[in-house]
Amino acid sequence: MFDFLFSSDPKQALRMKRHLAAVMSMLVFTLVSIFFYYHDLYSIDRNTFDTILIFFWVGVFIYTAILRSGLNKRYHDPSLTIPQMLWGATYILTIAYLLNDWRGLILMSFFGMLSFGFFKLNFREFLSIGLYAVLGYALIIIYLFLNEPERIEINLELMQLLAFASTITVMMYTGSAIHRLRNRTKKQYVALQEALELNKKLAITDDLTGLYNRHYFMEKLSQQKALSERNDSDFVVFYCDLDHFKHINDTFGHHTGDIVLQKFSEILLSSIREIDYAARFGGEEFVCLLVNTDIENAKKVTERIRQSLATYNFSDIAPSLNSTVSIGIANFKEFKTIQETLMSADNRMYSAKQLGRNKVVFSDEAEDAADTKI
Ligand code: GH3
Ligand code: MG
Ligand code: MG
Repeated sequence: MFDFLFSSDPKQALRMKRHLAAVMSMLVFTLVSIFFYYHDLYSIDRNTFDTILIFFWVGVFIYTAILRSGLNKRYHDPSLTIPQMLWGATYILTIAYLLNDWRGLILMSFFGMLSFGFFKLNFREFLSIGLYAVLGYALIIIYLFLNEPERIEINLELMQLLAFASTITVMMYTGSAIHRLRNRTKKQYVALQEALELNKKLAITDDLTGLYNRHYFMEKLSQQKALSERNDSDFVVFYCDLDHFKHINDTFGHHTGDIVLQKFSEILLSSIREIDYAARFGGEEFVCLLVNTDIENAKKVTERIRQSLATYNFSDIAPSLNSTVSIGIANFKEFKTIQETLMSADNRMYSAKQLGRNKVVFSDEAEDAADTKI
């Protein structure tokens, strides 16, 4: 029953909850009208009375179906507060018209109904529902006074109408003030969420390149270690250091150096997958984590990165500007600890420098070859 009525969409579930509260109030109202029937307060036969009740309840269930099917989402106000309230008000007015006595008592039901609009309706919407109730009731009184005067005590009704209209006016002001307050709180909440998001982003990213910072990367690395140990998977870390970067700064200026760092970050990001991580470790040094990857695949990725930077056309920034990168790769399975994996990738990156730069080094043989070169 619960699953049948409530959608998995939390907003729809909340609307359904509100609707069920309205259905419960309608039920109480219906029971009261039936009670009136057994006290002979109407001059209609049983069939007509049943037909009227069924008519209004069919309307209620049509609304329940619209809400459950999600059709309501097409409307500006998916809660359909106004149509729901108009339907309830028409139901109350019909019973008010049918009653021969105790009509004023029915007016109380309007207050309960209007309270459903407290959070949802703005002043104009509240005004239209309030006017509908007051004018509707006034029309009933006028009609009865002109056509069936024996069913109405006009002075009492007019006093009741006046009291009703003034109370509704007060409710409209209070209701729309609550609505405004709610909107303001909602806006403040959204602004706060956005500020929090921005704060979170700034705490984990590097300003210049937008890549992750060292702190966040190390956090991800230890999470990945735990994950890999649990499901026996491998991951690869590689270090990148731009070659002769000091020369780029000295020749073309610091600002141009910054642009090269940003371009290289873009190359990194476009070469790895969504599930991988790229971070700037400081200066012109970058580190990446490739999830569920072996050395062979990491070689392909890093070779692509190396080539992309080496062939990148910087001519729109400075005619003779070009840049290369040296990369060292290490896989976690080979070293078992994060510290050693990182250290090894760093050492291999230095080997790549010693082997002439613009190179990728992925094994200790290459490292040894580099050592003998010194
Ligand atoms: P190698 O090939 O051996 O790595 O030589 P290199 O010149 O790249 O090495 P080195 O580590 O001596 O120089 C790194 C330079 O990076 C020095 C520093 O001025 C520069 N640098 C560090 N951070 C930034 C930055 O944020 N922006 C710019 N433009 N330059 C930076
Ligand atoms: Mg360096
Ligand atoms: Mg360098």
